[in-house]
Parts: sequence; C-alpha cells; structure tokens
Amino acid sequence: MAENSTIEWTDHTFNPWTGCTKVSPACDHCYAESWAKRSGHVTWGPHGARRRTSPANWRQPIKWNAAAEAAGRRAKVFCASLADVFDNHGSIQPEWRADLWALIGSTPHLDWLLLTKRPQNISRYLPNDSRAPWYRPWNQLWPWPNVWLGTTVENQVEADQRIPHLLSVPAKVRFLSCEPMLGQLALTNMDVARHPAAKGLSPIGAYWVNALTGRNDDMGRPCPDVPRLHWIICGGESGPGARPMHPDWARSLRDQCAAADVPFFFKQWGEWLPDKLIENISRRGTMMLPDGRQMRSMMDPTKPNPEHEIQELLRTMGPWQHLSMVGKKRAGRLLDGVQHDGMPA
Ligand code: SF4
Repeated sequence: MAENSTIEWTDHTFNPWTGCTKVSPACDHCYAESWAKRSGHVTWGPHGARRRTSPANWRQPIKWNAAAEAAGRRAKVFCASLADVFDNHGSIQPEWRADLWALIGSTPHLDWLLLTKRPQNISRYLPNDSRAPWYRPWNQLWPWPNVWLGTTVENQVEADQRIPHLLSVPAKVRFLSCEPMLGQLALTNMDVARHPAAKGLSPIGAYWVNALTGRNDDMGRPCPDVPRLHWIICGGESGPGARPMHPDWARSLRDQCAAADVPFFFKQWGEWLPDKLIENISRRGTMMLPDGRQMRSMMDPTKPNPEHEIQELLRTMGPWQHLSMVGKKRAGRLLDGVQHDGMPA
C-alpha cells in the first residue's frame, strides 16, 4: 500500500484546509507556519484566512480507502498536519467540516487520527451535534469506529488543561501526542476537579483521576471508573531552533504507560541526543536538569580539555544530563536501546 507520510505513526497525511494560529509553547517552531511562509500558500495567525485544499487532494483518501480494502489492512490517516481540524476560525466554512465528516464516513477502511491543540472545541464540531448548521445524520451516532481523537500535550500545564476535554468526548481511541515534549508529565494522578470539563467526566464531580487507567479516587473513597487514554506518542522537537528533551521525561512516560498497560510509541529524540559528555566533547551541547533548566556545555570545543577536568566535571554533574545536537536522523528513536512502537490493537 503506497504511503504518503514520513511520520512514523501514520500511513497518510490529509489536510482538508491549511492555516492556523499558535496557541501554546508547542507551536513556537510550527513547521506548518514555516512551510506557509515559504510557499506563500496561506497567511498564518488570527488574521489569516484558512484555505481549503484542492479537489484532487480531497479525492486521495478515497483511493487510500480502496487500497486498504484491497490489501485487507486498515490504514491510518493523520488529519491535519498543516492546520488544526478543531480550529474555530471564522474563515472555516461549515460545509468544509460537513464534507470532511462525509469523507470520513465514506472511508471505513481508514482510521482517521484527528489531532488537535484545541480539544475544548471537539464536541462542538462532532457530526452528531444537531445544533450545528452543517449537521446531517449520515449513518450512525457518535463515536464512529474509524475516528481516533487526540490532543497534543507538551508540558503539565497543557496536560491539565487539555486532557479533561479529551476524556469528556467518547471515542474509539483517545491518544496524546507528547511532541515536542517540553517538560515532565504526570498522567496518573491528575486533579480534574476544577476543570470545566470535569462535570462531564463524572456524575459525582471532583476527584483525582489516573488518565491512563480511568481509575479515580475521591478523597480516598473508591469511585466508578471514568474514560481513559488509549495511546501515548512521545517525541522530541526537530527542525530549526529545536529544544532538547530530557531523557527522564521520556522514561517516565514510558514507565507510566507500562504500569497502566497503555501502548507507548517513542517517535524520535529530535535534534538532541542525551549522551555522556566525555564522548561528545567536540559537539554542540547543553546541560539540562529534569526540571528543564539548561546551561550551555561548559566545554570549549576549540581548546583541548584535559582528561582530569572532564572526569571531574562528570563526577560532579549530579542530576545534570548532557545532550548533544546531532540531528534528527542520527539521534534516532531508541529509548535506552529499545524501539517502542506501541499502538492500540
Ligand atoms: S496548532 Fe499545530 S498547525 Fe496550528 S500553529 Fe500550533 S503547531 Fe502549528
């Protein structure tokens, strides 16, 4: 089956329209914006109109669906890499969404991965919201079996804000893309009590929730299970200006998933690779603490570094981790020597 995406966790990428507005630190180095500037295709930001892609592009998923059916293997479609499918910008015409849902509904051999940084808008744009001006009851009520809903969480602040919204919407699969990972994430003991989506999550109101198992604990009293996450993707940032990912962040996410029996996909290190300072003394490097603080490598690559000084530095490094900028390809996607390709069944 021909694939049109180089992203490790999908077969295809489909953009119903292009253009977006930055909403959080994960957007700082948005490659779609860089692409838009280079191509002049669309103006980024709140004042730029979104632009629907070509009819030929919209016919592509029909072909992918036929190929998947012929191959007897479902294919994944990431929607959208150059926009946010739950963007509420006024230039997105209601019929674009109607056409998108119709396309998704007519391609049952494709799993559509709708990844957003605006999960608060998901329920508003679902196809079973009969208040929406474009609503048409095609074949069945939500959730559809070929739609996976996901949100990006790059740090704990965004996790606390976005995950409750995602949990509040029924879905065949709920997933997180923790890329670019910019901080430690704790998914197993989340305080959703004060979140506006909390009342939709539980009939009893406030509680702490393990977003990976759906188990929750209200002041020590057992409570009914709640919706949970089914898949976690983790990755460091790539491209110009990429920020490093501390290895303990990825390890912690891997271990939380293992404990909860949730599939874990380690997509990439990005541009930076953790290493031992002594082996990479001449490369561009940074020293990093698990809390995200950084300092540039203390070593000057233009001068010889006496062995005893390096050893002394390593001995006194404590929790500091050294990372070298080696490039995405060379950094690879092994975490402690293991490739993690976990996906929902
Ligand atoms: S939500 Fe995605 S496409 Fe939109 S600005 Fe942020 S990174 Fe770019």
